Amino acid sequence: MRSSIVVGLQWGDEGKGKIIDAIAGSFDYVVRWNGGNNAGHTVVVDGKKFPLSLVPSGVLQRKKLLIAQGVVINPAVLLAEIAMLEAAGYRVDLMIDPRCHIVMPYHRAMDTASEIWKGKDATGSLRLGIGYCYEDRNNRAGIRLEFLLRPTLLKDKLEKIFPLKRAIIEKGYGVKTDFTIETMLAEYVAYGKKLKKYIGDVSALVTHKLDTHSFLFEQAHGTMLDPVFGTYPFTVAPPTIASAVFPSVGIAAAKLPVIGVTKAYTTRVGNGPFPTELLDAVGDTMRKNGNEFGTVSKRPRRCGWLDLPALRYAVRINGVTHLAITKLDVLSGLNLLKVCTGYRYHGKILREFPAQISQLPECKPVYETFAGWSKDIGHIKKRNNLPKEARRYLSYGERELGVPIRYISNGAERKALIRS
Ligand code: GDP
Repeated sequence: MRSSIVVGLQWGDEGKGKIIDAIAGSFDYVVRWNGGNNAGHTVVVDGKKFPLSLVPSGVLQRKKLLIAQGVVINPAVLLAEIAMLEAAGYRVDLMIDPRCHIVMPYHRAMDTASEIWKGKDATGSLRLGIGYCYEDRNNRAGIRLEFLLRPTLLKDKLEKIFPLKRAIIEKGYGVKTDFTIETMLAEYVAYGKKLKKYIGDVSALVTHKLDTHSFLFEQAHGTMLDPVFGTYPFTVAPPTIASAVFPSVGIAAAKLPVIGVTKAYTTRVGNGPFPTELLDAVGDTMRKNGNEFGTVSKRPRRCGWLDLPALRYAVRINGVTHLAITKLDVLSGLNLLKVCTGYRYHGKILREFPAQISQLPECKPVYETFAGWSKDIGHIKKRNNLPKEARRYLSYGERELGVPIRYISNGAERKALIRS
């Protein structure tokens, strides 16, 4: 199998973990390249659910795993995840790039304090400190994984960085901190000792093996959460679009297949614009049938119809070559399905998501209506055996997006996958 990039085309939670787990068997390595432990995947194998937030989703296929420098790491969470997987009988064959940045207690404290400060304008952050960790990385005040191996250097960094952080948290936000340089040093040096065996140059490994081995590059979050091309400012800190794989791993740009994952409908968690949102009983049915509650946050996800203008945009921005459609089974039982085909904006029809996000509130979705299907489709193995209404729905999306569907997921289990 050729190396491929898997990207979510919506606001995250598209089921990337499920697709990666289902297809990882054909690849040598699975590489996670962005985000932190705020991005959870749920993978279900033989009825057992594995919530993953940092370990790449290829772990359950016993693949070689890499965490590239674009990921930020909360060591306690990573070590707990490794322990959970090992207890379940999975060996975690993992290499982590030493350039990865570490989420510190003051990042979490600042995240929490600033969300409270913003009140009703809060971003909807999970308060895990991920955005603040990226901010420090970009502002040259971060703690890299490699620093955890050098207590003197770590102490020196914390002595320079922490007094200002504490002043902001305590004097700016009025929240008391319950950690000190000493407590952080003790805790993080201990993490360094445990993580040492995993550290290796991921950038060099992928560069040297890209021609001879196959890599599956796993994105966290989704295209519409990208800090530039997403629904700014309701976005995440790291880039999420496919081309960001190259700097995030540390390899030269190459033309690779891009598998774009989208649900058969739309969801988003947290605040921010969502043109096709359903605030009615149909939205409630999708949430219930699709179990649309966050893996990490447990927050109910907002649900709505499939949004082609947003998907056309995501297909273009990512250079998607194949589609993976997930959760088709969730639509079974709905009498009518709607698909947003364009946005009406001041008398014009826009086929793509607007470049000016400030225009979005004035865009009204234009819908095409499709007949639904009533029977359960979870057991179906071939696209041709799907009800004709489901086939029509899929073919319409495929035609409108101009990209072939390669995978159709019709259940959470690894086995529930139609290769088309
Ligand atoms: P990710 O972050 O993109 O991997 O997505 P999440 O794991 O956060 O959310 C997707 C959820 O949908 C998980 O609980 C999956 O087990 C589940 N899931 C994935 N594909 C399907 C599917 O085709 N049908 C159903 N019913 N559930 C699915």
